Amino acid sequence: MTAILGIDLGGTKIAAGLVDESGAVSGRRSVATPARDGAAAVLAAIVELAREVIGSVPDTPVGCGIGAAGVIDPVTGDVLSATGSLPGWSGTALRTELSALLDLPVLAMNDVQAHSLGEAVRGAGAGHSSVLTVAAGTGIGGALVVDGSLLRGRHGAAGHYGHIVSADAVGRPCPCGGTGHVESVASGPALRNLYLESGGDAADAREVFALAATGDQRAQAAIDRAATALGVLIGGLVNEIDPDLVVLAGGLADSGDSWTSCVTAAARREMLPLLRGCPIVPARLGSDSALVGAALAFERARPLPKGTPQ
Ligand SMILES: [Zn+2]
Repeated sequence: MTAILGIDLGGTKIAAGLVDESGAVSGRRSVATPARDGAAAVLAAIVELAREVIGSVPDTPVGCGIGAAGVIDPVTGDVLSATGSLPGWSGTALRTELSALLDLPVLAMNDVQAHSLGEAVRGAGAGHSSVLTVAAGTGIGGALVVDGSLLRGRHGAAGHYGHIVSADAVGRPCPCGGTGHVESVASGPALRNLYLESGGDAADAREVFALAATGDQRAQAAIDRAATALGVLIGGLVNEIDPDLVVLAGGLADSGDSWTSCVTAAARREMLPLLRGCPIVPARLGSDSALVGAALAFERARPLPKGTPQ
């Protein structure tokens, strides 16, 4: 059996497991990301976790696929840019360094893209030809997979759907440095900001959802506005792409039916009449999706001798 080490590196957590050809995961482990300690500490934590996984399962991996925060160069596997959640991460030669540390061939890609590939091929999109995944949480992103092939883009930056202008976000500052992008009204932090602007008080989006469940009308209004903005975005993307289905993922997608139904209704209003039947479904692989997707990307890129461009 061919086993591949799958790794999911996020700003708060690193997860790893051994993935077989069917996408089944064994030996999964996770650890907090030492994000503030710099890139060398993050790499050391990945290697320690990887060795724990490898030591806990009978199969030896033939290689490693890692889905990592940041924009990852599709050719070199270097981190081209990263957000403030991983200080010093930008510029890391991720593929080269991890390959040397693990003594394994490595394929490195963006974590959202890895997540989307896993869902499209092994999860909610399995059996479909064109799958658009939209993930909404701390940020808004996603990816397009067509016939099992992920669109990564020239710089590995495809799928930054949160940075498309939204009529509902005019003048709002976006974490990317721009203004008026949909992420600035539809992400988890943006949803909380909407609630604060209406006079409410909550520590995070999760608390806004809890308040809405108790009947807080301002909390519900903030959720509706954020969800509607995301739905309008998704409807527009469907009009552009005409996918077989849309997979909704990310922390907000787990927040409850009211958010999901509001996103879906807004998306359908925006879609061209011919496309309104496009299914919008929840993600299915949970926290395994990115490591399954990264392992799958490695499998597809083989043969990949150590030290050659990916
Ligand atoms: Zn932006």
